[in-house]
Amino acid sequence: MADDKKVSDTETNADCGVCDRPVRKIGVLCGLCEGWFHVGCEKLSKDDYEKLTELGDKSHWFCKTCRSKFKGMKKEIQVLREDNKALKNRLEAVEKRMDDLQNDIGESDRRNKRR
Ligand SMILES: [Zn+2]
Ligand SMILES: [Zn+2]
Repeated sequence: MADDKKVSDTETNADCGVCDRPVRKIGVLCGLCEGWFHVGCEKLSKDDYEKLTELGDKSHWFCKTCRSKFKGMKKEIQVLREDNKALKNRLEAVEKRMDDLQNDIGESDRRNKRR
């Protein structure tokens, strides 16, 4: 029978991203930088850790470093969005002018042909 299935705990040979000591068992994996961290080093509560292990691969936990990067990214995205809006408005203005120009050209064309 297939009862040789071992329940694999979080086992890794990686070093903790905070204290640089091997993580071995009770650690969490960051979904962004893929670094391992001791539960204690990242100040996770037992509840948090249990939730994370329950979710397994689906738990997208992010370490402190990545979380602070996220905050910066969020701001950057906000700025980019504003830029995008401004660009869109300018593009629309340019498109409108091109339409006007095309109309002008079309009209003068017609006028020229009539002559
Ligand atoms: Zn550590
Ligand atoms: Zn990370």
